Amino acid sequence: MPNHQLPSSGTPLLEQGRADLHVHSLHSDGHDAMAIICQTAMAAGLSVIAITDHDRLDGALEAQTLVAANGWPLEIVVGEEIGTQSGHLLGLFLSEVVPAGLSLNQSLQLIAQQGGLAVAAHPLVPHPKSISARAIERSLAEGFNLTALESHNPTPGARLRRGQIQRLAFRHRLALTGGSDAHSANLIGRAQTRFAGQSALELRAALETATTSSEGSDQNLLGLAPIMLRFLQDLGDQNELLRSRQLPAALRAVNARRRRS
Ligand SMILES: [Zn+2]
Ligand SMILES: [Zn+2]
Repeated sequence: MPNHQLPSSGTPLLEQGRADLHVHSLHSDGHDAMAIICQTAMAAGLSVIAITDHDRLDGALEAQTLVAANGWPLEIVVGEEIGTQSGHLLGLFLSEVVPAGLSLNQSLQLIAQQGGLAVAAHPLVPHPKSISARAIERSLAEGFNLTALESHNPTPGARLRRGQIQRLAFRHRLALTGGSDAHSANLIGRAQTRFAGQSALELRAALETATTSSEGSDQNLLGLAPIMLRFLQDLGDQNELLRSRQLPAALRAVNARRRRS
């Protein structure tokens, strides 16, 4: 269960909205369709969720249409988890896809150009898909806009980095967000962003003034299993790449030794 702390802004809890700013669907590598995602989010007491499928917006746009058609008390932020050269970046309030594979600065620029907000997803975790503190500070020093750091995410290792993330956010006056990174609807809301108000517009204002707070439950071992599996698969992909590059050279070295012996 979320840890109900009084947010640093001092706003009474009753006026604090709850958002989950990192949710995947069937449209990328999630398991559930939009209707079940939206219904689960409402049941969890969230007033805003960001659909952040990998490198696409179609699912998020579909969710917006679905919510409007049903008159559900939920707002959808159209988002994307962008695979940049430096790691995963969440673009929020987007209207156009930001292509994968660009540099962090190019991606930040494309988000800013369309009036979106950028959040570093599961940052500082020692994994190629996480943006490092050095990359974040370099982009900020070069004048690129990064609005927030995701300080609650169930990715393995994120809990150990939380203090460092919060200090980095404080130093650069960045907002903090919580995102469940849910790939199954039943995990929506296990990390949350708290903000003054209930609407997506109020959430946006809180992000821009760095007055959000984040909270969430850290995983027990059972809950960590599917996340660990995905994490290991990611590492496997990396190793596969390394092997495919190194194998020909290694084989040549072995053959050379054979010829010499
Ligand atoms: Zn990610
Ligand atoms: Zn994700």
